[in-house]
Amino acid sequence: MCISTEINFGKLKDKSLSTDDIDNLICEFISQLQRRGQVGGTEYNWSKIKGEIRSFVQMSHPKALSEQHHSKWNKETIKKLENAFGAKPQWNIVDDDIPSKFQRLTSVKRLVLFTTMFEYINCIYDMDSKKMFPLYQLSLTDEQIEDINRWISAYKLHDQMWLLSGKLEILAYKQLVEVHSELNKDGRELCALTEEATGIPTYYHLMRYWGRKEDEDKRKCPGCHKKWRNKSVDIDEESFLEFPYICDKCRLVSYYPSSFDNQRYAKIGE
Ligand SMILES: [Zn+2]
Repeated sequence: MCISTEINFGKLKDKSLSTDDIDNLICEFISQLQRRGQVGGTEYNWSKIKGEIRSFVQMSHPKALSEQHHSKWNKETIKKLENAFGAKPQWNIVDDDIPSKFQRLTSVKRLVLFTTMFEYINCIYDMDSKKMFPLYQLSLTDEQIEDINRWISAYKLHDQMWLLSGKLEILAYKQLVEVHSELNKDGRELCALTEEATGIPTYYHLMRYWGRKEDEDKRKCPGCHKKWRNKSVDIDEESFLEFPYICDKCRLVSYYPSSFDNQRYAKIGE
């Protein structure tokens, strides 16, 4: 969901602050909102309009900027903003089209942790509706949300390394596809923490690019070595978050591979 919202910081009261100081404060505030999924995007902006400092953001929910959703670190940043501007930042929805209904976590049956180098910050989706859930709505601690953010950065870097670098390509690929790699171990731990916090089964997407020319379909779950072909999703009809492989016990899901032109690499991740 994207709700265009104006944040008004007000007129600067502490005249000793430089433009850089203001910029740093606003960056600190908005990047924390982004890391928790309270607002979307990875960039920030601000302008001085009639003497007041204002930013425009895309909120994920009409109440996403309410005080109780801020991290403990952002509550400290708000105190600094209050000292600088003489008041807490005010926010105002400027969007004409606010959806009337928002999905509730109580209606969700399965969550999935999924990201790639092309995805935005948030990465936990309802596997059935395919809608993303802002992290702040998942009853996670501030530290756990930070851990998820760090993991996302690491995942994106590995994905970039695999796609863009020559020498590190296979090392990065192994981290992405081998179930017990450090990267995947960390990701699965975050799924377990999310499941514990929400009470909703939380799956981990295990990447696979190179597949076997024969019998790919009969491959076993790399976690428990049992059957994991999900017959309700046709291999040729897979789409976003529709996984032809799923293991409920290991909480793993996977897509059908994209390439069959390297049988040596197809063994990686099995
Ligand atoms: Zn399994």
